[in-house]
Amino acid sequence: MRWSKASPEGPEIHAQAVRLQFLKGERPRLCSPYLPALENLQGRRVKEVGARGKAFLITFEGGQTLYAHMQLYGRWVFGKPGQEAKTNRQLRLALATPEQEARLYSATQIELLNAAGLKRHPYLTRLGPDLLDPGVLPTDLVERLRDKQFSGRRLASLLLDQTFWAGPGNYLRSEILFCAGLTPEMRPRDLNEQQQERLARAAQGLARRSLKTRGLTTPPDLVSRTNHRHWVFNRLGRPCWICEALIRKEEWSGRRLYRCLECQGGGPWEMNFQDVE
Ligand SMILES: [Zn+2]
Repeated sequence: MRWSKASPEGPEIHAQAVRLQFLKGERPRLCSPYLPALENLQGRRVKEVGARGKAFLITFEGGQTLYAHMQLYGRWVFGKPGQEAKTNRQLRLALATPEQEARLYSATQIELLNAAGLKRHPYLTRLGPDLLDPGVLPTDLVERLRDKQFSGRRLASLLLDQTFWAGPGNYLRSEILFCAGLTPEMRPRDLNEQQQERLARAAQGLARRSLKTRGLTTPPDLVSRTNHRHWVFNRLGRPCWICEALIRKEEWSGRRLYRCLECQGGGPWEMNFQDVE
């Protein structure tokens, strides 16, 4: 299956960061009509390529880092060098090796940062722990739930707030709540220890599964049975895969949210994420 066309969330961003790894160790030709300072990096070798939240970070020898935030509409296109994509979008940035070219369209937040600038960058410093950072443990996510800054806010709004956890967006929000058996109106301080741990495990498990499967949040056995990509998201009026109650659609924090009233009540509930552990 392909990634859905929704605006990119953590797994889509990290999957693109994997594709950008072709730049590592290379000295790409750079082009950006919006960032003339990039000329100074022509011929420099790329040391690191990664993603944090919805931003890509490409670090060059000498310490300069190219920062590109995807916002809602940014899109990377990969192809042969010099081969223009058929699109009406504005080209913002291109990086090419002799074999391959990565072109970024539409995103407008592109900056060149030195080490100090990177450390104090307003977007990066405010980001919460990234669900797809291999160094982030479930305990780091639980710690965030217990932080007074977040513990009194509803899960529906927290799960879209990148300063709480970085990575989830709208489809992951519905799927995380379903897989943790929790409701959007609950607040971290309403949850017992077990529920907090389950929420953290569901968030990390679903983000990893989505990265591995191009946006699927359902486990392999359910996908082979139903050919469906999500548990509840986009399934209004369809029967829940677990209890057959009909899936509801609501609006929370201005975005659509899907839920099963039977399965998401805080009761005993266990999902396994063995396919991504
Ligand atoms: Zn159900």
